Amino acid sequence: MRILILLPLLLAAVAAAARAAGSSNAPFRPPPRVLMDPPAWYSPAHFKLMGKPQSGEWMAAHPEPAQSFQDYVALKPNLPTQERHTLYLSAVGPIAATDRERLATLREFLELYYTLPVRMGPDLGLKDVTSRDREVFDQKTVRQYLTEDILHQVLMPAVPRDAYCLQGVTMEDLYPEPSWNYVFGQAMLTHRVGIYSLVRFYPAFWGRKDDDASRKRGLLRSLQTLVHETGHMFGVAHCQKYECVMNGSNSLQESDRRPIHLCPECLRKFRWNIGFDIVNRYEALKAFYEKQALTAQAEWIELRLRECRESPATKGG
Ligand SMILES: [Zn+2]
Ligand SMILES: [Zn+2]
Repeated sequence: MRILILLPLLLAAVAAAARAAGSSNAPFRPPPRVLMDPPAWYSPAHFKLMGKPQSGEWMAAHPEPAQSFQDYVALKPNLPTQERHTLYLSAVGPIAATDRERLATLREFLELYYTLPVRMGPDLGLKDVTSRDREVFDQKTVRQYLTEDILHQVLMPAVPRDAYCLQGVTMEDLYPEPSWNYVFGQAMLTHRVGIYSLVRFYPAFWGRKDDDASRKRGLLRSLQTLVHETGHMFGVAHCQKYECVMNGSNSLQESDRRPIHLCPECLRKFRWNIGFDIVNRYEALKAFYEKQALTAQAEWIELRLRECRESPATKGG
């Protein structure tokens, strides 16, 4: 979806900044020996290769260089260190009780997904942030806030000392510059901050009634967005090989077709960076999906778990 990140330039800058700023930091944990991992962990059996991009889709509209695992390692991405390995989430702008519950669920999910501590940061306000009123449909007008101002004035001064990143979540609508209708979010990887709006994921924004199906869809969209954007914070670029949570997408329809899972190539990148145990991670995610009645996601994880456990290299150890 339309989330503005100038990836190739920014990723190089992130790597340089990390080398400069983090050189004295002790590593949070020893780099995992990815080459020794059981091959089943990265088996492509339960993943679909990306088809040819259709007109209007992200890859057709935004050609980007592909990022292989080797490219990723060569980039020397920001690694979590003992001093800086906590992911922070802050509510930005007014937040209803139901939204706060959603944020708690997002926090829990991010922690299981990336296996690093995720903490709620302080609530942040939108005072002095440039805004405008915009007609979105059928004469419905909403207030929109300028992402640049939120990144610079609201988030950057609030980044905690131990933060790997601080991501703001808002239920207000956003725009990145006057010529755009709206934007779902924007990130500044060099400064470890991002702001994302979830408001368009839920039917209330579109003047429609909430029901179980729409609540579930809204939750899935929110989880997917946060996982994707946090992935960029780790220096992982848009995935072009498999259908994957790290695929770029140009619209809500396109992102709704994407899975919430990491493909083998992206999984390997995060495993290399963070060092999690892939089977333990899948087990925790499966329990989360079951609790949230995300049945298809839980079933997919079960297939992967069976594949990983049946692998000869993992048997007995
Ligand atoms: Zn992206
Ligand atoms: Zn991928």
